[in-house]
Amino acid sequence: MRLILLGPPGAGKGTQAGRIGARYGIRQLSTGDMLRAAVAAQTALGARVQQVMAAGALVEDRLMAEVVEERLHQDDAGRGFLLDGYPRTLAQAQTLDRILESQRQVLNCVLLLEVPEDVLIARAVARQRADDREAVVRARLEVYREKTEPLVDHYRRRNLLCEIDGNQPIEAVARALGRLLELEEASR
Ligand code: AMP
Repeated sequence: MRLILLGPPGAGKGTQAGRIGARYGIRQLSTGDMLRAAVAAQTALGARVQQVMAAGALVEDRLMAEVVEERLHQDDAGRGFLLDGYPRTLAQAQTLDRILESQRQVLNCVLLLEVPEDVLIARAVARQRADDREAVVRARLEVYREKTEPLVDHYRRRNLLCEIDGNQPIEAVARALGRLLELEEASR
């Protein structure tokens, strides 16, 4: 299966992606993790993205296209994947379409994790990752609303969107996601 996990920063995408990946044997691909690894390893890519990430802004689409294209062409991704944190702009969604088309593959489903904004801010302040200070959190939410939220309609129009209430305990969200994926699998 080829899936996207969509939702605002702090909605629990990483947590749920890890669970889905383990349970259904689908490769979890987090662009945030890839970029953080590049920063930690002090690669050329890491040097280019470090400040942008620290400010809570988006890395430019062209650079992300290179990162994702390279990753999706690796063998393990050929068996299916769950994208966590990509696409984040309409241009990125188009890049993903182009890559999938070149591989004669299709997207099966876009899972949208919905969480109210005040809950997101409270969660992020409690989490305190380096790029999770409150001002940065608000910047990230604004970027989400402006650049990423249009993807919700984009995928809804294509009949690919499944909405999940992310404002529930982790286990309940995981069960809701599991039910959707089982339905999706049964319909294929
Ligand atoms: P995440 O862990 O998904 O919240 O990503 C952490 C940071 O990495 C983001 O705030 C962005 O600066 C950057 N990033 C991750 N994925 C993308 C993407 N698809 N497009 C642009 N920037 C990204």
